[in-house]
Amino acid sequence: MEKKKRIVIALGGNALGNTLPEQMKAVKITSRAIVDLIQEGCEVIVAHGNGPQVGMVNNAMLALTREDPQQPNTPLSVCVAMSQAYIGYDLQNALREELLNRGITDIPVATMITQVRVDADDPAFDHPSKPIGRFMTKEQADLMTEKYDYIMKEDAGRGYRRVVASPKPQEIVEIGTIRTMVKSGDLVIACGGGGIPVTRQGNHLKGASAVIDKDFASALMAKELDADFLIILTAVEKAAINFGKPNEQWLDDISVEQANQYIKEGHFAPGSMLPKIQAAVDFASSKPGRQALITLLEKAKDGILGNTGTRIHL
Ligand code: ADP
Ligand code: MG
Repeated sequence: MEKKKRIVIALGGNALGNTLPEQMKAVKITSRAIVDLIQEGCEVIVAHGNGPQVGMVNNAMLALTREDPQQPNTPLSVCVAMSQAYIGYDLQNALREELLNRGITDIPVATMITQVRVDADDPAFDHPSKPIGRFMTKEQADLMTEKYDYIMKEDAGRGYRRVVASPKPQEIVEIGTIRTMVKSGDLVIACGGGGIPVTRQGNHLKGASAVIDKDFASALMAKELDADFLIILTAVEKAAINFGKPNEQWLDDISVEQANQYIKEGHFAPGSMLPKIQAAVDFASSKPGRQALITLLEKAKDGILGNTGTRIHL
């Protein structure tokens, strides 16, 4: 029998929605796409983002502090942990149901609360760039800075938002357990929201005030699990050069070398497509035979069969 293809799937914002009811609905569609791949004979590990969810948790915990001065402000690392558990709960529940509906009864589903080590001196800590949470007026934003030391930035004319650091993932703390679960045939959800960012202080892992990009964390996990494929599922079917311009050109199949050239030419927007292409390049160049694919959630199966998406290889 041919060896099963091992695939790490990174789910983007559109796989999860923006509110509790939206997420409950979205995970059903997402689960269908994932179980399709399992039925194609793939071994799947799931990772996901948490942009809207971590902002939501952060705001909720801030409201708690406002109502009850006895409650100190909740660290961002704890908010990421809460978002992992909340998203994992909805996903594992929907995946279990989809598997059972298709008569697959021998694949247990579980979420691994995952810590990811970052460097305390990562330059990203000095340049917070990732906006999270709700929009505020200048006055509200100034109050946040005064009260909680938050860094607030104007976001594209829509108001002020908290920006947080987004350091690079260095090490997945629970990778051994994730590997054991995968080996025993479990369907694992791990590295949610890019993982809970921690820095090492001797034996102690200290939560960091940051949100890691899930695209980078997924690439690291795919390398660590010796996956064949990294699939980044997002809101576009393919990546493009000259994106949004009259000479826009969708990319089907590109080498790492070509991808690096397009990165240099500035074709991919920082904070959205750029981290995906960088993560894809990182994974595809790490070992011969490894490939990355960027496509729409609904096209995951088509993509793995080679019919669509942007494929990046050595
Ligand atoms: P996710 O939640 O899946 O991480 P993002 O919004 O971060 O999604 O990134 C996907 C978005 O990147 C697309 O919806 C698209 O609008 C944008 N994008 C920026 N540059 C490009 C490009 N060159 N080609 C395709 N999409 C691009
Ligand atoms: Mg993104």
